[in-house]
Amino acid sequence: MANNFADLVLGGDQGTWLLQEPFAFDIALMRIRCAACNTVSSLGSLAVDGTTLEALVKCSDCGSDLLRAARTQNGCVLEMQGARQLFY
Ligand SMILES: [Zn+2]
Repeated sequence: MANNFADLVLGGDQGTWLLQEPFAFDIALMRIRCAACNTVSSLGSLAVDGTTLEALVKCSDCGSDLLRAARTQNGCVLEMQGARQLFY
């Protein structure tokens, strides 16, 4: 029987923990690579635009959207279409 949510969703294999690591880490310490221009920036150095319902982080070099977090009626969503890689 599963003991936690990760066991239920991903079967509890070692890959589960690898996927959970970036979300347990301080996001301000992560670095992110822009998919459009390949620039790597520290997330903590980038400006965040938004409200209590939405946050948007853009690449400081080319202005492309890197991350978008939104709170909806059904929960929260994180979009990372403009990010090629996260380093943590
Ligand atoms: Zn860029």
